[in-house]
Parts: sequence; C-alpha cells; structure tokens
Amino acid sequence: MDDMMIVENLGRHFKEIYGDGNPGVFFAPGRVNLIGEHTDYNGGHVFPCALTLGTYAAARKREDRTIRFASLNIRGGEVTECSLDDPALMLDGSEGGSTLKAGADDWTNYPKGVIWAFAEKGFVLPTGFDVLYYGNIPAGSGLSSSASLEVLTGLVLRELYGFAGVRQEDLALLGQRAENAYVGMNCGIMDQFASAMGKEGSAIFLDTNTLNYRYAPLAMSGMKIVITNSNVKHQLVTSGYNDRRKSCESALELIRAHRETESLGSLTCEEFAEISHVLPEPERSRAKHAVTENARTIRAVEALDRGDLVEFGKLMNESHISLRDDYEVSCPEIDFLVDEAWKIPGVLGSRITGGGFGGCTVSIVGDDAVDEFRNRIGAAYGAAFEGQKADFYVIEAGAGAHRIR
Ligand code: ADP
Ligand code: MG
Repeated sequence: MDDMMIVENLGRHFKEIYGDGNPGVFFAPGRVNLIGEHTDYNGGHVFPCALTLGTYAAARKREDRTIRFASLNIRGGEVTECSLDDPALMLDGSEGGSTLKAGADDWTNYPKGVIWAFAEKGFVLPTGFDVLYYGNIPAGSGLSSSASLEVLTGLVLRELYGFAGVRQEDLALLGQRAENAYVGMNCGIMDQFASAMGKEGSAIFLDTNTLNYRYAPLAMSGMKIVITNSNVKHQLVTSGYNDRRKSCESALELIRAHRETESLGSLTCEEFAEISHVLPEPERSRAKHAVTENARTIRAVEALDRGDLVEFGKLMNESHISLRDDYEVSCPEIDFLVDEAWKIPGVLGSRITGGGFGGCTVSIVGDDAVDEFRNRIGAAYGAAFEGQKADFYVIEAGAGAHRIR
C-alpha cells in the first residue's frame, strides 16, 4: 500500500471504530542504523537514517477525560479505553518513573508512557482523545516500531493540544523517557532521534553525548541499502540489552577510579588500550566494543563524505565482528545472513543492525547484485534454518515525524 491508500484506509477505519469526525493524520518513521551500534547510551556517535516505513495515526480530541486507543495491527483494531484519571497515567513523584504501574506487556504502554512523560514535563492533557494507529514496519525486528509509536504519539499530543514548546528533538527525548521509565527498556536516544529528526536522502550523524548532529547525504552511486529481516526474535532482547548497558556502566566506573573519563564514547582506542587492563571480563570486551565502534562510526562518516563506500563497507563488517565477538549480541541466524552476504561479489558491507538477539542485518549492495543477494541468501537461509524465511527491503532514507493532514 502506498501512503495515500494507507491514509484513506486509516480514515475509513477511524470512522468505523469511533464514529464520524475529521481526525488529524500523522506519521513517524522507523529507522535503520548504518553503523554505531550500542554506542548511544555510551556517549558515542551513531549513524542511523529514518525509513519510509513507519507508523501512522489518525487522532481527534475528545470533550471528556476518556482516551481510546486502537491499532489496526493489534487484535483487529480492538479498542482499549482508559481515563486521564487512571492511576497508571498519574505522576507519583518517584524517580525512575512508573514501570511498575504500567500494565503487563500491553502495546498501549507505549502511548501511555508518552502521555505520562509529557505530564512529567508539565504538558498536561486537559481532555482525552481517540486514536487509531497503523504501522508497516515489521514489529520487533529491530527497526524501531516502538520508537516510531512513541515519537508519533508525542507528535499527536503536540498537534492536538497545541503544546508549542515541544520541538522535534523533544519528541525524541520524551519518547525515550517513556520507553526507559514507563516501558522499562533502557534504550539510548538513537531510535527516537532518528524517527523525529530524519531527512529524505540523508542519514544523521549524531553525537549522543551532546545531541549535536548533522545530516550526511547518502550518495550511494550504484549501491543500494538492503535490510534483511531474519524474522527471529530471541528472548534476550530486553534483558540482554539492559544487561549490556549495565556492563558498560560498571566498566566506566572502574576506569574512572584511574582516570577522569566522561563516557566510554569519549575514549580513543589508544586511551582505552592503556587502561583496559583494569577491567575484568566481560566488562573489558563490552567496553572495547563501545570504544572501537565509536571510532569506526566517525571514520565511516568521513569515508562516506569522501565518497569511499568501500571503506564504509569494511567498517560495517568490522562493526559486525565486534558486535558478534566482543559485545555478543548476535545470534546464529544473523551471523549466517551476514556470512552469506559477505560471500556475494558486489556486497561492500553487511552487519547486524539494531539492539541484537535477532532482528535484521543491513547491507550495502551493488545495484546489479541485489537480485542475487535476495535469491541466494533467501534460499540458503531457508535451507539452514528450517521453517525460517528472510524478508528483504531495499530502502530509501525518509523524512522524520510529520503531520500528513
Ligand atoms: P522494535 O522497536 O524493534 O520494532 P520492540 O519490541 O521494541 O521492537 O517494539 C515492538 C512493540 O511495539 C510491539 O510488540 C507493540 O507492543 C508495539 N508496537 C509497534 N508498532 C505498533 C503498532 N502499529 N500498533 C500497536 N503496537 C505497536
Ligand atoms: Mg523498540
């Protein structure tokens, strides 16, 4: 379905579910990270781009204090109702937010978390609203459907209630706050930032320590960016992620006992080599990834600026090896997809992308090799992992969250 059809379809379902009305329609994209993985909570650099795939919302203010949520992706658009006076949406002044108040594992925790994060910043909703979502990102595949849902909800709130002080960057920060404190996923800022700030044809070179960023045009002469979805999601996603983050925090603490260090992302590879002996395993390997990945990301963007896609691809490959061996967030299915990609002439680079433990790979593939890439890897994957099927997306960098009408 193209954009127009999705919007029409969403409007029709909105009317069926909530009755007549003229809802606003909004969009926030998913993202793919080209390089700079697990650096965003270590004060390092990342290099994601927004996708043209994402999440759409049709939304309309109500007169009373009821909120109604529905998603065409969940149980056929079944409505979940709550009230602005619901304890789950109330601030309780406790540091760290209200993870425990969030109902168990329900998709509405994402939009509820955003409402809660807005309230925490003083943006309190005077009335409720009706909202219907639809997303075309494969959920749970590491392309950040959750961040797009959060950023989108923030956009809906800003636009419906006229919270003029909320900038695009704030949509990212409020979305991250919701995911960290309300949903309980201790993610960095990358996903929400890419969803809020994306730009057509460009990736975003972001320093997560300062939030300084610049757009880098993806001049891909003769190359395509291909995402391969392994369609596996291992149990470890949230716990493994939070666990890696903790290891990096303890590594930083241990290093700080010996030298002043702002973040792992502030260390050069040479500085790290001098101090790494103070770290036990697995902290040493985890920190090594954070430091070397940050250096690779900076070099990769320099290479892209020079038009050196070969070097960019090599750095992507090194990134994968580091995530596989030092950070240990890959899995057999993903390693297989990357190994197969590396065998194909015309592939400049291939790596795991996203939080890990399944999800997707991202590859730079020559125009002429895209068909072979799909066919060969698709067949080999199906043969190696019974019952598994890979999906392929040739992607373009898309715009950040915006109002459609
Ligand atoms: P990822 O962000 O990599 O796609 P997550 O596990 O972080 O994976 O987030 C996926 C979850 O986000 C889904 O299980 C669901 O709860 C929620 N979600 C994402 N998109 C939608 C949608 N369109 N409608 C309802 N819930 C959604
Ligand atoms: Mg997510």
